[in-house]
Amino acid sequence: NGFVELGLAPELVQAVADLGYTKPTGVQEQAIPLAMNSGGEQPFVDLMVSSQTGSGKTAAFLLPVLHTLIKQRAEADAAAKAEFDRLCAEAAANGQPAPKRAKRKDPTNARNFKAAVPGALVLCPTRELAQQVAHDAIELVKHCRGIRIANIVGGMPYQLQIAKLQNADLVVATPGRLLDLQRSMQIKLDQVQFLVVDEADRMLDLGFADDLAEVNQMTAQRKQTMMFSATFAPRIQQLAMRVMHDNGANVQ
Ligand code: AMP
Repeated sequence: NGFVELGLAPELVQAVADLGYTKPTGVQEQAIPLAMNSGGEQPFVDLMVSSQTGSGKTAAFLLPVLHTLIKQRAEADAAAKAEFDRLCAEAAANGQPAPKRAKRKDPTNARNFKAAVPGALVLCPTRELAQQVAHDAIELVKHCRGIRIANIVGGMPYQLQIAKLQNADLVVATPGRLLDLQRSMQIKLDQVQFLVVDEADRMLDLGFADDLAEVNQMTAQRKQTMMFSATFAPRIQQLAMRVMHDNGANVQ
């Protein structure tokens, strides 16, 4: 399978194999290694990618982002396990009973409410596209434990989305509803490490420039920005200049 060479987590390689992808498409082959930052020594680079629908662009941004989220989750789990083992050993040495593991709280119970703090955010211009991207992301994480995907779009019941939103690692959203939830403090954007703007040209056509500027500011601490667009018209390049933090790389 041609995805193995890209150095993706085995859970992701398995998922693309299940989907019947045998080798990366052109945009995937170019963008995934650039986006992945495999060594971890250098900072992540920002990417501006020219791509049409049908090119495999969705997996080109989802795979590297999910890869890093999986790696981070594994590291956090290992650290939590080491700490739990240490507490157990300490209790045993003091002749005390072993500590209990914390129970996961029921996220649908309003009393347990806490704001979502996703590590990655994908912005899409339309509800249909956001649902498609979230659907693809769910397929790609089906072999991963503990990576949660949430979809935030207008025109769906708030309560359902909010219940699903808690504990989300990756949020796929249209800008309007995302900012609604941010203003009502259901979601915090200050832990977003990866921001993807999908179909940036349509985003501007649909009048989301101000919303993008707002998300840009709210996620100023992020490590990486990826912008995908069918065209690189001057107005897209201007948007890129505003949202890209480094000189980045262009993939055409
Ligand atoms: P997209 O450009 O992201 O809308 O993807 C277009 C279609 O190509 C989707 O139906 C994907 O499931 C499919 N696809 C994405 N990557 C690959 C691949 N490497 N091999 C075969 N099909 C793919």
